[in-house]
Amino acid sequence: MLEIKKLSAGELKSIPGYDNHELVIRFENKETGLLGFVAIHNTNLGPASGGTRMYPYTSTKDALIDALKLSRAMTYKCAIAGITNGGGKAVIIGDIDHHKNHDLLKAFVEVVNSFNGKFYTGEDVGISENDIQFMLNYSKFFIGRSNFAGDPSPYTALGTFYIMRNAAENVFGSSDLSKRTIGIKGVGKVGIELLKLLTEAGASVMIADIKQDAVNRAVIKYPKAKVVSHLDIHSQPMDIFAPCALSGDINWESVSQIKAKLICGVANNQLESPEINDELIKKGILYVPDYLSNAGGLIDLSDELEKGGYNKERVMSRIKNLSESFREIFQISKKENISFAGLVDQLAEQRFKNGKTANQK
Ligand code: NAD
Repeated sequence: MLEIKKLSAGELKSIPGYDNHELVIRFENKETGLLGFVAIHNTNLGPASGGTRMYPYTSTKDALIDALKLSRAMTYKCAIAGITNGGGKAVIIGDIDHHKNHDLLKAFVEVVNSFNGKFYTGEDVGISENDIQFMLNYSKFFIGRSNFAGDPSPYTALGTFYIMRNAAENVFGSSDLSKRTIGIKGVGKVGIELLKLLTEAGASVMIADIKQDAVNRAVIKYPKAKVVSHLDIHSQPMDIFAPCALSGDINWESVSQIKAKLICGVANNQLESPEINDELIKKGILYVPDYLSNAGGLIDLSDELEKGGYNKERVMSRIKNLSESFREIFQISKKENISFAGLVDQLAEQRFKNGKTANQK
C-alpha cells in the first residue's frame, strides 16, 4: 500500500534547503521498497516540473535535503529559461542496481499521479530514458518521450557549451575554447556529451570519474582526453572547471584549491552553500550558476508541454538564445564588478515572484 504524508512547515523549518516550499511529501510503499520525497518549491509560473533522482542516500534526511535544494533550483531554472513551470523534484532512496525494478517504478507512478498535473517529472541521476518510457505507460505526467524530447542530456550539454563560450569571452577575452584547458568531473550522460562538444571545439580536456567504466567509455570515444583522479581534478592547472557529477563539488575545502578562473558545469547544486560564491569572487573566479548552465535539458523536456507538441527547432533556438540573452549581464557584472551569479539570481527571483517569465511580458 502506498503511504503519502505531507510534511508540515514546522517539521521542515530546521532542514537545510527549506525555503518556504509550497508542498513537501514523504512517500513509502513497503511491498516494493519505494521510499522518498517530492518537494514542490514554487508554482507561480505554472505546474511544478523537475526530474526524479534515484540514489543510495545514506539517510532519509540527506534525501530530503537534496529534494528541497533541487526543487528550489528548478524554480530558478524555469524562471531563467523562460519556462512556464515551477520548481519540483522527486528523490527515491535506493541503489539502482539492487532496488530499481518495474514494481517499484509502478508504485512511484502512483505517487506522481496523485498530484494530478501539479507535478511533471522526467529523468535525472539514476532514472533512465527507458524507465521514463515504462512509466509513461501508466501516466501522462512524465516528460521525455523517446522520439520527442527523449534523453535531455545532449541538450543540457549544448546549453552548457554555449554559455561556457560566452563566459570565456568575458573572463579570457575570447570565446574560442581551442585555447583553453577544461576539466570535466563526471563523464556520465551529460559529461560525455560536453566532452564531445569541447573536443570538437579543439579544447584540451582532462576528465575524471569515480567509475572506471565511465572513464573507459569516454577515452575510447575521445582518446585525446587526459585522465586524472576524481579526487583532485578540481585542483589541476586549468582555465575552466566543469563539475558534471553530483552536488557540492565547490565546497569550503575545494574552493581554496581551484586554479580555474571560470566554473561552468552541468551538475545541480554545485555550491555546497551559497556563501561560497563570495569566496569565489574574492579569488577572481567567475561562477556560472548551475541552473543557468544546465537549463538546456529543461528547455528540451518542457517543450513536450507546449501547445502543438514538441518542436526540435524551437528547442535548439531557445537553447542558443538563452545563452545570448546573458551577454549583457556578463558585461554588467564585469564593468560594475558585481557577482554574475548574484545578478542571475535577482533576475530569476524577479520573474518567479511576479509570476511572469521573459516570454510573458
Ligand atoms: P550520470 O549519473 O549519467 O553521470 C554522473 C557521473 O558522475 C557518473 O559517471 C558518475 O560515476 C560520476 N560521479 C559521481 N560521483 C563522482 C565523483 N565523486 N567524482 C567523479 N565522478 C563522479 O548523470 P548525468 O545525467 O550526466 O547528470 C550529471 C549532473 O548533471 C547531475 O548533477 C544532474 O543532476 C545534472 N543535470 C543533468 C541533466 C541531464 O540532462 N541529464 C540536466 C540538468 C542537470
